[in-house]
Amino acid sequence: MSKSSVLIIGGGAIGSAIAAHLAALPEGRSRSITVLERDPSYAQASSALSAASIRQQFSTPLNISLSQYGLQQLRAMGPDASLVERGYLYLSTPEGAEGLRELHALQCAAGADIALMTPAQLNQRWPWLATQDLALGSWGRSGEGWFDGWGLLQHDRRQALQQGVRYLQAEAMALERDATGTLTGVRCADGTLLQAEHYVLACGAWSGTLAATAGLAVPVSGKRRSVYVFRSPEKAPSSPLLIDPSGLWFRPEGDDGLFICGGPPLGPDDDFLPLDPEPDLFEERLWPALAERVPGFESLRPQRAWAGYYEMNNFDHNGLVGALPECPNLLLACGFSGHGLQHAPGVGRGVAELIAYGEYRSLDLAPLSPTRIAAGQPYRELNVI
Ligand SMILES: Cc1cc2nc3c(=O)[nH]c(=O)nc-3n(C[C@H](O)[C@H](O)[C@H](O)COP(=O)(O)OP(=O)(O)OC[C@H]3O[C@@H](n4cnc5c(N)ncnc54)[C@H](O)[C@@H]3O)c2cc1C
Repeated sequence: MSKSSVLIIGGGAIGSAIAAHLAALPEGRSRSITVLERDPSYAQASSALSAASIRQQFSTPLNISLSQYGLQQLRAMGPDASLVERGYLYLSTPEGAEGLRELHALQCAAGADIALMTPAQLNQRWPWLATQDLALGSWGRSGEGWFDGWGLLQHDRRQALQQGVRYLQAEAMALERDATGTLTGVRCADGTLLQAEHYVLACGAWSGTLAATAGLAVPVSGKRRSVYVFRSPEKAPSSPLLIDPSGLWFRPEGDDGLFICGGPPLGPDDDFLPLDPEPDLFEERLWPALAERVPGFESLRPQRAWAGYYEMNNFDHNGLVGALPECPNLLLACGFSGHGLQHAPGVGRGVAELIAYGEYRSLDLAPLSPTRIAAGQPYRELNVI
C-alpha cells in the first residue's frame, strides 16, 4: 500500500469530522487521507449509540466554544440535522444553587443564552413539573437541544468521501514505534503495516487500548452508559432535556409521548462492561426519580433500551487533542467523556488546522493538549452527565 500523508485510526464522528475538515482545506486537498475503520456499520461505536444532544452548559469555556461551533454546523445542515432547540434544564436543590449560579455566570460570559429560573417560573413554563424541593433551574433558551447523531456522522463521512478521502475497512491491532519514539506504522489484523506522515488516534473508547500496544499511556477507557426508552400518557409538552439533581436525565423523542432517559450506573463502573443495558437501573432508580419529578410519568410504559460506551478520560473528563510529547507524530483526538458528538465539528476543524498549518487558526484547543497529563494539570469538566 502507498504511504498516506494522514492516517486517521477510527472513522466515527470524530475521525470523520477530522477527515472532512482536512480534505476541505486547500492545504489538505493535496494530501492523501485514509480513515481506518474496522466496522462501517458502527454497531458498537459511541457515535451511533449516543443521546445526540448539544448544550452550552459546561464548566469549561472551551467546551462552550466547541458546542457553539457544533451548533453552527448543525444549523447549516438544515433539515438533515433534525435539530430540536428546546434547551437543557439543569435543576438544583438549595444546596446546589450557588454552584449553578457560578456556572451560569461563566456560561453567559462565554456567550451562552442561559436563563436562571425560580421554581415559580419553572412551574409556569412547565406545569407538569414537580418543583417543591427545588431552588433554581438553569435553562438554555436557545443553542441547546438534540439532533440526529447518526445523520451528523454520515454527513461528515459523505463529505470526506466526496473530497477524496479513502475509508479502509481494517482493524488496527498495534502501533509500532522506532527507538526515538516516533510512530513508524499501524499493524492491522491481516498483518499489513500502514504508514503515514501524520497519525491520528480517534478510536473513541478503544483509544487507550490501542495506544498501550506501543507503550503509550492514554487514560481513556470505555464506561458503559445505558439509555432507556419509555412511552407516557403524560406528554410533558415542550419538555427540554432535563437534568435532575438525582442524576436522572430525560428528553422527548418526537412529540408523541416517547422519551429517552438515563443516569449514572447503579453498579460498579468497571471498564468495558458488556454492551447490554444495565439491569435494574431503570426500575430501581430512574423510574422512581422520573415519577417524583413528573408525577404523570408514574404510569409510563418501558419500551426498549440500549447501551454504549462513554470514551472516558479518567484524568479529568475532558477531550485529549494534540500531539503526545513522547510520540510527536501521533495526534490524539479522544477522551471526550460523553460529550464528543456535539464537539466533533470543532475538534475536526482544530485537528485539521493542526495538520495543515501546524497551529490552531479558528479556536485554540491547546487547553485539551495531552501535555497536561504529564504536567499533572487537569482541565476538569464538572458537567459530565
Ligand atoms: C449513551 C451515550 C449517550 C451519549 N450522549 C451524548 C450526547 O448527548 N451528546 C454528545 O455530544 N455526546 C454524547 N455521547 C458521547 C458521544 O457519543 C461520543 O463522545 C462520540 O460519539 C465519540 O466519537 P468517536 O468518533 O470518538 O468514537 P466512536 O463513535 O466510538 O468511533 C470510534 C471508531 O473507532 C473504531 N475503532 C476502534 N478501535 C479500532 C481499531 N483498533 N481499528 C480500527 N477502528 C477502530 C470503532 O469501530 C468506531 O467506529 C454519548 C455516548 C453514549 C454512549
